[in-house]
Amino acid sequence: MSTIFSKIINKEIHADILFENDKILAFRDISPQAPVHFLVIPKKEIRTINDINEEDKSLIGELFIVAKEIAKKEGISEKGYRTIFNCNEHGGQTVYHIHLHVLGGRQLEWPPG
Ligand code: 5GP
Repeated sequence: MSTIFSKIINKEIHADILFENDKILAFRDISPQAPVHFLVIPKKEIRTINDINEEDKSLIGELFIVAKEIAKKEGISEKGYRTIFNCNEHGGQTVYHIHLHVLGGRQLEWPPG
């Protein structure tokens, strides 16, 4: 089933887009948890990390390439940042279209709550 992220991909709802190509979209999180907080998503609808297949290998790798390039542009590469995929209920996933969170711009706590 489609999610709100399909609407963002299809430009049916607005997002602050940072990067786009034929396979990947990156945009700022609507409810940022850090000074820099953006999401990198595949345009392909994949519900959770549990649903990733062998054929998605390079796509998942590309999400990280896009993430680190945007992180550099956002000026958080040197100090550092965190990348997260939340999976299902215990992981805190709320949108069932996989998305790589990238958070930075402040000291992040560890371990998470
Ligand atoms: P999850 O909790 O599934 O790991 O993360 C979903 C993220 O999507 C949340 O951080 C939430 O703020 C963000 N989000 C949900 N709806 C929208 C939206 O319509 N636009 C944008 N830009 N972000 C959204």
